[in-house]
Amino acid sequence: QSVLGILGGGQLARMLAIAAAPLGVRTLVVDSAGDACAGQVAPLCQADWTDFVALEKFAAEVDVVTFDFENVPADTAHWLAERVAVFPNPRALAVAQDRLAEKNLFRECGLQTPAFEAVDTREDLSRALAKIGAPSILKTRRLGYDGKGQFRIKQLADADAAWEALGANAHGLILEAFVPFERELSVLAVRTRAGDFRVWPLTQNWHTDGVLSLSLAPAPNVGELQSHAEALARTLAEHLDYVGVFALELFVKDGQLLGNEMAPRVHNSGHWTIEGAITSQFENHVRAVLGLPLGDTSARGFSTMFNWIGELPDAAPVLNTVDGHWHDYGKQSRPGRKVGHATVCAQDTKTLAARVGEIARGLQREEQAAPGIRALSS
Ligand code: ATP
Ligand code: MG
Ligand code: MG
Repeated sequence: QSVLGILGGGQLARMLAIAAAPLGVRTLVVDSAGDACAGQVAPLCQADWTDFVALEKFAAEVDVVTFDFENVPADTAHWLAERVAVFPNPRALAVAQDRLAEKNLFRECGLQTPAFEAVDTREDLSRALAKIGAPSILKTRRLGYDGKGQFRIKQLADADAAWEALGANAHGLILEAFVPFERELSVLAVRTRAGDFRVWPLTQNWHTDGVLSLSLAPAPNVGELQSHAEALARTLAEHLDYVGVFALELFVKDGQLLGNEMAPRVHNSGHWTIEGAITSQFENHVRAVLGLPLGDTSARGFSTMFNWIGELPDAAPVLNTVDGHWHDYGKQSRPGRKVGHATVCAQDTKTLAARVGEIARGLQREEQAAPGIRALSS
């Protein structure tokens, strides 16, 4: 029996552990928090990223190491890679941890990006704003997630406030043009150690305050964008010798794809694949990193995922809906925290829109569901 080590014990590790079990794969999770939610479904080794005594023991107990948390220090990833197989490789992880390196790589691989400039000083910010203008977004290069570490510059006069908010960041900043996109898509992709590569159908996503709120898959009316996204994801994966699942977050502007960021791990916008695809992102990630053959990434029908942020709503309206699926991560409620999600599936878009509407009314979440229902009806 193989043992998969997972760095980070959040909901992604939890869902990986659940997907690993039927394959006969045991999991061992590392997290500094004793109450990490993956610990409810898998053994947990409580240690921080520089506890090399605990990590030495962990490395000896597992066959392969992977990530739930993309901000594991690169030094720790490299140290582990000298002792045990680590997928994705630490170089790929390092690129994805830095918005500047990531965007440079996107361009090298033929994926256009919003205009961007590196910003390390207040003078850099003025220079960058002179080039990019407003509206724009100042972001920390590292460690941002769920819209944290970002400042939206609506007009040039906001520069001081933006610098005040983020200027002290030790890892540097990046200024990006604000893209008035038509929509946001993501592509989930998976590559094996042998180089086998697949993507799932494109997902359409809606964010609220920088946090994913709703996803719809397959994204409607994507036409050629599916094959463009697939080709770009493949180029990136081959360039990084990437093994496992990753997500590319994309903006569609004037019908063209722009790269926002990549997540070197399973991704929130792929949670629909648990019930909505032949093989889920979690199962294929486990298969890929362990050197097993991949499963089919086709959609079974149409799916919508609601993200539950801060606290869980009542489960009953989801459980009472045909093909409705409830996911409680077993986390404490906290503002802004991802505590669960629900996926509802159907064989056609009309039925799906009706089911999504039924759940939204039951939970008084009409606003959250509205863009999905509109897209399903278009
Ligand atoms: P995640 O939780 O996905 O890792 P994050 O904190 O890394 O989020 P981003 O993905 O950079 O943040 O931004 C979050 C959201 O903010 C995006 O999905 C998009 O809706 C919006 N956004 C970010 N950058 C831009 C931009 N340049 N133009 C327009 N909207 C943007
Ligand atoms: Mg991010
Ligand atoms: Mg993002």
